[in-house]
Amino acid sequence: MIVGAGQAAAQAVEILRRKGYAGALTVVGEEPVLPYQRPPLSKKFLAGSFERERLPFRHQAFYDGHDVRLKLGRRALRLDRAARTIGLDDGSVLAYDALLLATGSRARRAAVPGAGLPGVHVLRTLADVDAIRAEAQAGRRAVIVGGGYIGLETAATLRELGLEVTVLEMADRVMNRVVCEPVARFYEAEHARRGVRILLRTGLAAFSGDARVRAVHGTDGSMHPADLAIVGVGVTPADELAREAGLACDNGIVVDEHCRTSDPLVFAAGDCTNHPSARYGRRLRLESVDNAFEQAASAAHNLLGIATAHDRTPWFWSDQYDLKLIIVGLSQGHDRVVMRGDPASRSFSACYLRDGELIAVDTVNAARDQMAARKLVAARIHPDPAQLADITRPLKDCVA
Ligand SMILES: Cc1cc2nc3c(=O)[nH]c(=O)nc-3n(C[C@H](O)[C@H](O)[C@H](O)COP(=O)(O)OP(=O)(O)OC[C@H]3O[C@@H](n4cnc5c(N)ncnc54)[C@H](O)[C@@H]3O)c2cc1C
Repeated sequence: MIVGAGQAAAQAVEILRRKGYAGALTVVGEEPVLPYQRPPLSKKFLAGSFERERLPFRHQAFYDGHDVRLKLGRRALRLDRAARTIGLDDGSVLAYDALLLATGSRARRAAVPGAGLPGVHVLRTLADVDAIRAEAQAGRRAVIVGGGYIGLETAATLRELGLEVTVLEMADRVMNRVVCEPVARFYEAEHARRGVRILLRTGLAAFSGDARVRAVHGTDGSMHPADLAIVGVGVTPADELAREAGLACDNGIVVDEHCRTSDPLVFAAGDCTNHPSARYGRRLRLESVDNAFEQAASAAHNLLGIATAHDRTPWFWSDQYDLKLIIVGLSQGHDRVVMRGDPASRSFSACYLRDGELIAVDTVNAARDQMAARKLVAARIHPDPAQLADITRPLKDCVA
């Protein structure tokens, strides 16, 4: 039994059947649609250049052909570990022999006055983006709260659709949690060049309006007229089912490197987990396609008794305008940044070092660096900073 029908669930189904699991397989998903990819939601699908039919990983025929029972539009409300059952919101109770929790994460909502007004959105699901698309006509004013990936991707897409876009970011730079200052400043300048207004050090105080949102108010007293607003202030792990069932949870469902929870019959994968990273020597909760995909693959193998440890160097991408940002590794804790190339060229990389070790690389429109970075960050190299900065020398040759 798999609870949650997103990226991780779809991957687990593939692996379980491909590896020969022939028993009963049920997937319970709260959203009333086939498991689908989320990245296009803030990018090409929002822009209208990616068809709805391309969003699902697989079509119904695949699940029918592989004897996978989909219970979609159904939320799992209760996990009874003693009875080995899952209770659904239609009152039905399903028994399991082994369980994979792949419940993902949920968009954090703003806890300020007016947050419930029509026209105030989050962007996590297909239903969210359908609602945004219905309101996102050229010439309208969109205010986006949060200058992280989701906020900035949405800002770029809406601007390209012809909306007036303002972004409120409470930190002193965009993508504050993940990229260094030169990369953040580059993105701020690119957005400004396209006409997106980014207001830094500006938190959210309230939304106001009548029948729908009319303005967004900043903590600095500023007021921003809005026809629609999108809140992109991060996610929380969907771990309530696990928590209520007494499984260890701490900023996500606590799993080991085999994706096993504190109950040997229950596994978890994807955004909902807090998992160990041998590469970084600490526990992580990641929100990325790569993590959901790889953890689900490990979980599926382990469910079948094929011991498979999950230990990957994380990577993530973000598309804004014609810029492809790929982040390899985790830069938190770096003590030095070495730039490769000039941001003005719109193709460059930022290499993060800690005690001389390469711990992460951000690449912007630099495919070759990105390929090399994956190997070098995983290999924990200690490069010569002068060589790193030398763009006449391929990054892959920077092994000290
Ligand atoms: C707009 C957007 C853009 C993104 N862009 C990128 C990108 O460019 N690159 C990247 O690497 N990542 C991106 N991500 C992140 C990526 O999509 C997620 O990390 C990934 O989907 C996680 O997969 P998952 O299976 O863990 O969770 P999800 O895909 O979120 O699936 C979880 C599913 O479980 C369901 N569920 C939860 N609780 C229950 C319950 N109790 N009962 C039944 N069902 C339940 C949820 O409704 C959901 O459908 C993006 C995410 C969003 C929202």
